[in-house]
Amino acid sequence: MKAAGIERGVAVFSGRVPVDRPLFDGIKKLGWVPGVYRMPTGNLFHVSKQRGWPSQLLLGRLHPESFYKSSRLEAWNRICGRHLLPEWLPKAKALLTDPGAQLAYFDTLVVQLASCLDPSHPSTIEENQQARLEILQKSQELGLVIGSGEGVAPTWALPGLDFFEGEMSLRTYADSKLKIPAGDYQFDNGASYKADAAVLLDETRRIPLYQLAFHDYVAGTWVWRDSNYQSLAFAHKKDLFNILYGTMPMWHVDRKIWAARKNDLVASYRAMAAVRSRIGFATMTDHGWLAPDRSVQYSDWDTGDRVIVNFCAKPFTRAGKPPVAGGGFVLERK
Ligand SMILES: [Zn+2]
Repeated sequence: MKAAGIERGVAVFSGRVPVDRPLFDGIKKLGWVPGVYRMPTGNLFHVSKQRGWPSQLLLGRLHPESFYKSSRLEAWNRICGRHLLPEWLPKAKALLTDPGAQLAYFDTLVVQLASCLDPSHPSTIEENQQARLEILQKSQELGLVIGSGEGVAPTWALPGLDFFEGEMSLRTYADSKLKIPAGDYQFDNGASYKADAAVLLDETRRIPLYQLAFHDYVAGTWVWRDSNYQSLAFAHKKDLFNILYGTMPMWHVDRKIWAARKNDLVASYRAMAAVRSRIGFATMTDHGWLAPDRSVQYSDWDTGDRVIVNFCAKPFTRAGKPPVAGGGFVLERK
């Protein structure tokens, strides 16, 4: 990939892929950032299969004592930030030497909040949130780049995060009908993605509020079930949103996928790198449309740059300036 021109990248290995120091050292030598998938906290459903139980507790619709008795008692240890913090830190520290990680992605840590009812370490939902923020921040302090997310990008977690997975997506956790949770990334969702795309990729309705507020503070990307190339038919449109919002693309890559999609991926990388190398850490100062049907949009940046994206198939002509090709973009001085 490096030889093909993918100069920079973050390589996050899912929990099922074995990694070691030689692999991560090799990735570092390429100038890429190697990262690991971890869950310092666990899933709420292990405590109880009852949907939405944290809200039900907060609203007083569940009686704490009887709910606790009916729950899986040992699972509370895995959702309680305050309980987990001391045991997590040595594990995070160890990641720096083996496998030599520079980055860690904490799946669902910021989106599965609940109060803890374990009588030996009870905590309110606010205390759990605070402890989870400390897990993020103390991991950052060790020198790791830290990300979390899963379709929701809660602002309370911003002080502890470098990137948000799912920030580009418009869904909350686990409400996607995409088939990917079953696990085949080589499966092209193709036309079956149309219904999702009608919501997620509707340029007439999307407004980059999160990027307008926080682009210079946190990097964002799509949710892992719904990465740029999950449907080849819509990959280019997702790229255009990344370009307009100055955010990161996400690819699932193994040798087979790389061989099959190499040309597309290299072209996509070049387009995005041309923009993100200028405004990747900049403040988005404005966003708007240049055509009444919102098919042509711009984002302005504190670097003095303007990105114009044409979602329409026809070229967008401009008086005294070169046209923006159909499905294309330009980066110019404002
Ligand atoms: Zn607890």
